[in-house]
Amino acid sequence: MPETGLPGWIGRSDVPIARVWTMPEFNPPFRIGHGYDLHRLEAIAPEGKGRPFVLGGLHFDHDRGPVGHSDGDALLHAITDALLGALGEEDIGQRFPDTDPAHDGADSRVFLDAALERMAESGFEIANLDATVILERPRIGPRKTELRRRLATLLGVDGTRVNIKGKTHEAVDAVGEGRAIEVHVVVLLFRAD
Ligand SMILES: [Zn+2]
Repeated sequence: MPETGLPGWIGRSDVPIARVWTMPEFNPPFRIGHGYDLHRLEAIAPEGKGRPFVLGGLHFDHDRGPVGHSDGDALLHAITDALLGALGEEDIGQRFPDTDPAHDGADSRVFLDAALERMAESGFEIANLDATVILERPRIGPRKTELRRRLATLLGVDGTRVNIKGKTHEAVDAVGEGRAIEVHVVVLLFRAD
């Protein structure tokens, strides 16, 4: 068996990384996860391929919406990937392939709930989560408190553990021209037991 020098790492490619990490000799009480997502924004169907604009499970009035197999909620997708990443699990695209007709137009809370379930099964809770939404329009500023509250509810944590920041892309590239939305998320998990 190859020696990697990493504590707890037994160097076997056939062992899922999550199982290796739960070995008693390598059992850190914290995990950090990063999530990123981008969706093209188009005119709402049938004029374009855009779906109604939804972010963090909230609907926004806008003439463009995300193009995606599910409802295109980039914030919930990035959060889901951050949680799965922290747990060392398959990402959202592998777990919920966009070739699966069951996910056509799906409410992205389904993906988030699946990640939260895995987190709970692994004995972890959210210490805090920080999200950055890069978007020209609609502006999220006026609804930031509502969004924060909404995320806290969806994640089952106190609002003080969730932060969300809105930025523009200064008219540069597709995001700056309002043709895409980009989201970055970091999350810290702690072992609850
Ligand atoms: Zn997405």
